[in-house]
Amino acid sequence: MQRRDFIKTLGAGSLALAGGRALADEAQYKWKMVTTWPMNFPGLGTTANMLAELIGEMSGGRIHVKVYGANELVPAFEIFDTVSRGGAEMGHGSAYYWKGKSEAAQFFSTVPFGLTAQEMNAWIYHGGGLALWNELYAQFGLVAAPAGNTGVQMGGWFNKEINSLEDLKGLKMRIPGLGGEVLQRLGGTPVNMPGGELFTSLQSGAIDATEWVGPYNDLAFGLFKAAKYYYYPGFHEPGTILEAMINKQALESLPKDLQSIVLNACKVANQDLLAEYTARNPAALETLLTRHKVDMRVYPNDVLQALRKISLEVVEELANKDKFTRKVYASYSRFYQEALRWSDISERAYLNARAGA
Ligand code: CA
Repeated sequence: MQRRDFIKTLGAGSLALAGGRALADEAQYKWKMVTTWPMNFPGLGTTANMLAELIGEMSGGRIHVKVYGANELVPAFEIFDTVSRGGAEMGHGSAYYWKGKSEAAQFFSTVPFGLTAQEMNAWIYHGGGLALWNELYAQFGLVAAPAGNTGVQMGGWFNKEINSLEDLKGLKMRIPGLGGEVLQRLGGTPVNMPGGELFTSLQSGAIDATEWVGPYNDLAFGLFKAAKYYYYPGFHEPGTILEAMINKQALESLPKDLQSIVLNACKVANQDLLAEYTARNPAALETLLTRHKVDMRVYPNDVLQALRKISLEVVEELANKDKFTRKVYASYSRFYQEALRWSDISERAYLNARAGA
């Protein structure tokens, strides 16, 4: 065969193949993504937008995802049920908001004094975490995919100093998930509310303190205008995963290549948000400290030690809630012990050495 003829034949064949696929998969999918974040909120909301755009681009426009901020289609804390019953094909939130469905869900967001972002990704992708997460969500007709991570968060905004454990007594603080349980055992009153309500609640005195995320997000909400002290570290959220939840039936109705595109776009979002926070938090912190003269404090060591002790108890007790939570706890804690040993001689030893400590 002449080279030219060969190329011609190959060209025609490729076209035929491409044509065949186009015919089979020509269907266009219009999806809705409901979120627990205010529309376009830096980092959280913008990652949901990015994820939707990415799915559109990677699929060559075969899937179009329209993003809805909290309260646009449904309130923040109703997205789980909405996606579960197919009222939207996707959602973007964080699993600890759904502890009412299963206590185990909290392990797939973050655990006080638990795994860091890097370790969390290791457990989820390579330590059995994601399989357990999907075992849980399958009961609700959902598929779970990590789609963002905040890294270590800040302790939060307080209108009074925390000098001892006494100062936590009677403290009404917005703090979700297991961190809230820890506060409760130390005499505080944890409250859960969506991010969009924090500023007014803090300013009106409806709550005494709130945690949110970190400098980048806390600056955007203007929380420094409503509280005096900014405490660290965020013991309660050392590496919170943001999730994409996908209606299982909707996902499985897609051709295989589009299913892969949706799940891998989530993986991109998961990596990208951690990078974004790591890049934006330092500059936002600088703005908070120098321009807004925020009074930043570290939790006293004895307070941290008490928080740590109670946290370990709270997490261990979770294992007794039900059979499935026990299974997740077993996987998490086994991984945790191993990760701790490795992180001690890798990340921690290096960070100490780098700091000259
Ligand atoms: Ca938080």
